[in-house]
Amino acid sequence: MNFLSLIENKREGKILAPEQIREFIREFTAGKIPDYQMAALLMAIYFRGLNTAETTALTLAMRDSGDVLKFPKDKRPLVDKHSTGGIGDKVSLPLAPLLACLGFRGLGITGGTLDKLDSIPGFQTLLPVKKIIAQVQQVGCVICGQTDKMVPADKKIYALRDASGTVPSIQLITASILSKKLAENLDALILDVKFGCAAFMQTKANARKLAKAMVALGNQCGTNTRAILTDMNRPLGRAAGNWLEVKESVACLENKGPDDLQELVIDSAAHLLVQTGKAKSLAVARKLAEDCLNSGTPRAKWDEMIIAQGADLNAFNQKLALDFSAKAVVEVKTEKSGFVSKCDARIIGEVIRDLGGGRLTKDSAINFDVGVDQIAKPGERMEKAGTLCRVHAADSVQAKTAIARLKIAFEISPKRPAKTPLVVEIILR
Ligand code: URA
Repeated sequence: MNFLSLIENKREGKILAPEQIREFIREFTAGKIPDYQMAALLMAIYFRGLNTAETTALTLAMRDSGDVLKFPKDKRPLVDKHSTGGIGDKVSLPLAPLLACLGFRGLGITGGTLDKLDSIPGFQTLLPVKKIIAQVQQVGCVICGQTDKMVPADKKIYALRDASGTVPSIQLITASILSKKLAENLDALILDVKFGCAAFMQTKANARKLAKAMVALGNQCGTNTRAILTDMNRPLGRAAGNWLEVKESVACLENKGPDDLQELVIDSAAHLLVQTGKAKSLAVARKLAEDCLNSGTPRAKWDEMIIAQGADLNAFNQKLALDFSAKAVVEVKTEKSGFVSKCDARIIGEVIRDLGGGRLTKDSAINFDVGVDQIAKPGERMEKAGTLCRVHAADSVQAKTAIARLKIAFEISPKRPAKTPLVVEIILR
């Protein structure tokens, strides 16, 4: 095939045949097409777009660039959740054991959650395929990274998109996310597509566009797929930072979790119950999920899951019993009384990254113990000198810098702001 003419055709807005797309991906993954040609094609796609047939062909070609997981036949549906990511988004952690207790096989093959799990002493996030399958069959859930052999095309293409300014294309994002999920061979998938100042998609309209594209393609490719649009202007829960989020996830499993986290965990499980025919309506499904969470079995399942993945349970429980594990912990106080009218998730996320809790570059080391907790949420009443949040830092100098920045993340107003929903829309097709 003449790959140059294929690039030129897309540059001119022509439609590519599925076989052309498949061959381009196959040859690129095999190292037979240079990066500059792929980057040129990506830019042409960025400007000209792909139609549904082209996006499907690209997604399936990417899925088939590596291993597609094969699970034994089982009456428990195989399910997963994907989130486009946000500050304090720890839903996968309590969700996986809840799904196992609801009679699913819960997969949590993830990128964004791995640093949180790495904060658990001994926990292994990178597992061989055999182990992933064995654990899902035995324990009922796993949370781990993708193996090297799954969707290698996405890894290579994403690196080029990152370096060529072609990440924000709805069709390329759809193909990237769904190729990875389709490689899990799921029965059902729930997508949490976030919008707001700390989200990948800043506006609700763009989040809806992405969600609709992914739901349509997922269903067309044979995986029952739904999406929810959720608000990421404020953080999810009251804690953000790797270890602090593990702690809050365990609290959620003990029914002490913050309301918004619990709502999203229950909602995600409820949709999967309806999608797989295990519940007739969302209301019935929510009640099933809530009762299951309150029963305490998912909390015990959590221990079973982390032990299966190598965690040192004694060390984990000892760490869990501590109020904090960072060197310097300082409260951020309000200067006036009133209602919290803003709690900017983007600023909080940037502060945590700069405290060492996130990466500025691919190779940055992570400090698992830093972060922010006891976060006051919009609508809450604060008295003067009340706690807006608590900073967990590596030393007092870093804590001081963080406090000054965090004060700007919050606004206090005399009037209680109108309550805004967390889940604003369900996308079924
Ligand atoms: N997340 C992905 O996995 N891929 C994208 O293209 C964007 C976000």
